[in-house]
Amino acid sequence: PDKSEYILDLKNLTKYFGGLAAVSDLSFQIERGAIYSLIGPNGAGKSTTINLITGMDRASTGEVIFRDRKLNSIEPYIISGMGISRTFQHVRLFGRMTVLENVLVGKHLAFQYGIFGTLLRTPKMRRQERLNKERALAYLDTIGLLDKANEEAASLSYGQQKLLDLARALSMEPKLLLLDEPCAGLNETEINYFANLIKRIRNSGITILLIEHHMKLVMDISDRIIVLEYGKKIAEGNPKEIQENSAVREAYLGT
Ligand code: ADP
Ligand code: MG
Repeated sequence: PDKSEYILDLKNLTKYFGGLAAVSDLSFQIERGAIYSLIGPNGAGKSTTINLITGMDRASTGEVIFRDRKLNSIEPYIISGMGISRTFQHVRLFGRMTVLENVLVGKHLAFQYGIFGTLLRTPKMRRQERLNKERALAYLDTIGLLDKANEEAASLSYGQQKLLDLARALSMEPKLLLLDEPCAGLNETEINYFANLIKRIRNSGITILLIEHHMKLVMDISDRIIVLEYGKKIAEGNPKEIQENSAVREAYLGT
């Protein structure tokens, strides 16, 4: 029963780090079921925007509204449970744990059973664990890493680690998925693979906010693009409008 056609509504967000406004009076809305991209030069405030949405950073002023609920003072793990997951610009995995365990651990951190839960696992908990494992394997299948499920995460290639981070985020069953430079450092083949995955995830009903520097990818898969420079929104529109926007070309595309 969501009233708004927008899953996320950022209202006049500002985030200061000391004297620096990393994000400055930023407002935009994300339509349900769409792929939105956030682009802009390094230091423009893209990752900070994602951190403000997930509760990792707190806004100095302004509001984050997700499905008609204000998130500003809600704990990150609760926000995650409400349906917002993210991947990281710098992938954070447990290298000595298996690929499968890396997917499962996110769930455990989100829904802690506590000491009694661990000591006295009821049949219901065991069933839940089995279900979690089946789901985790299904996500690994989705991203193409099922055959690596029992290998150490550290043994994966860089591109595979990015995929594993995505599987971990998907296992939280998000309604909104925030992807922070998923294709940074990947080759063209890997980027095409990611592009198809992102579209499939969107088609499964998950709304996506993508941060990415690879312009062809952004232009190909985005429904709408928001451009940041020095923490401020300098443009918003569909890919064609953004490519034709003179302020954007000057600030970012360098033409
Ligand atoms: P982007 O992701 O667009 O490259 P960031 O959001 O990471 O940009 O950073 C925006 C600005 O905020 C940069 O100048 C960065 O140095 C600064 N910044 C980001 N996080 C912090 C922090 N935790 N403490 C101080 N400054 C930060
Ligand atoms: Mg960043």
